[in-house]
Amino acid sequence: MTTRSETRTALDHLLTEIEHRNPAQPEFHQAAHEVLETLAPVIAARPEYAEPGLIERLVEPERQVIFRVPWQDDQGRVHVNRGFRVEFNSALGPYKGGLRFHSSVNLGVIKFLGFEQIFKNALTGLGIGGGKGGSDFDPHGRSDAEVMRFCQSFMTELYRHIGEHTDVPAGDIGVGGREIGYLFGQYRRITNRWEAGVLTGKGQGWGGSLIRPEATGYGNVLFAAAMMRERGEDLEGQTAVVSGSGNVAIYTIEKLAALGANAVTCSDSSGYVVDEKGIDLDLLKQIKEVERGRVDAYADRRGASARFVPGGRVWDVPADIALPSATQNELNEADAETLIRNGVKAVSEGANMPATPEAVHLLQKAGVAFGPGKAANAGGVAVSALEMAQNHARTSWTAARVEEELTHIMNDIHTTCHETAERYDAPGDYVTGANIAGFERVADAMLAQGVI
Ligand code: NDP
Repeated sequence: MTTRSETRTALDHLLTEIEHRNPAQPEFHQAAHEVLETLAPVIAARPEYAEPGLIERLVEPERQVIFRVPWQDDQGRVHVNRGFRVEFNSALGPYKGGLRFHSSVNLGVIKFLGFEQIFKNALTGLGIGGGKGGSDFDPHGRSDAEVMRFCQSFMTELYRHIGEHTDVPAGDIGVGGREIGYLFGQYRRITNRWEAGVLTGKGQGWGGSLIRPEATGYGNVLFAAAMMRERGEDLEGQTAVVSGSGNVAIYTIEKLAALGANAVTCSDSSGYVVDEKGIDLDLLKQIKEVERGRVDAYADRRGASARFVPGGRVWDVPADIALPSATQNELNEADAETLIRNGVKAVSEGANMPATPEAVHLLQKAGVAFGPGKAANAGGVAVSALEMAQNHARTSWTAARVEEELTHIMNDIHTTCHETAERYDAPGDYVTGANIAGFERVADAMLAQGVI
């Protein structure tokens, strides 16, 4: 029987080795630290998890694909981007995780996202493994025709690695309904198969699920509401700060309003908007989803209640709850100090790893309820799995049915994280609860399936 401190020492050695074996991948190192640093109690309590090689297998992707993506812009110039798909772990089901198109994408970013995805998908209780992919292609300012040609070139390589029983990509930053449409069309053309379950986030009418676009944002608000209930409060009348203005942010703001809370901010990489009256969702959707514009246009058109702060951070705006919904490491230690000073009660991560480790530590120390992304934003992938189920049965469910399932899943994830944290002497620590509960499910499947 190993003690917790012996286990911790062994995990520390492994983390050092991970850094050596995966040089220049700081985001992946950060994600590995965040998970492994919380696992000592469960490994010490359950000797089967100390089996040599189990954690080493868990941190090594089953497969990593990197490929060239050449495409021509509207002037006929050739561009060469890099495509990635990291198939991290399929012990629980086909690899599942989105595609990100953003100039910051590299192998380390995709590995961090794929690693997180393993535990997130396990927490949903559904049969999906973990994977992630994308490209350093930047869709900002590109015409529809350019985005289409890029997606077609990307899929011309990716198609051979995916399939409804193998690997099922979806959207992420820079990949929404338009991109999924072009990717699906090219997959269908190359394979001559109507294989609806090969991609999720498809359009209504050709295999998409109702509530999939809303699922990540709605799910995060449901998770935040569950954390508030645990403190004897609800969302009614609470002021919220939300970062980002893409898919997750928009539907976070929508669900907050439905539950009686008031979101007063949104942002993009140019800065943020604060709107004293609360964000006008119709205007934001028009600018972001229809015109593909920037958030400063919102302030220009909204009138006196709103102002645009170039380069600023939404965390400076006083609020009861904060829902980071843009990108990794967007909420740092200084931001956490500001939020705490302004009396924040809960922080729930819509984005993946938006809070730095130092920020998480500060928030938890101050007694702020903190929902980690792998639990709080799992609603998106959960409804993706429901989309796969509908595709498999060649049926489609009503919005009410999907939303009811989503609500159950988010409440179950909250309960699982909460109870697991208590079981391992970390009451109220959703990070530990999420990591251990996700780990237990994946590790049990890996042990049962042998050394592969
Ligand atoms: P979108 O592309 O729809 O929106 C992303 C938003 O974040 C945009 O407003 C974008 O602004 C902003 N943003 C992105 N990168 C940066 C940056 N480096 N600095 C400042 N702002 C930035 O993506 P999603 O809404 O789909 O994804 C947001 C987050 O949620 C990501 O972390 C993603 O991994 C996570 N997530 C998404 C899920 C989904 O279902 N879509 C599921 C689970 C998690 P700009 O346009 O200026 O770049």
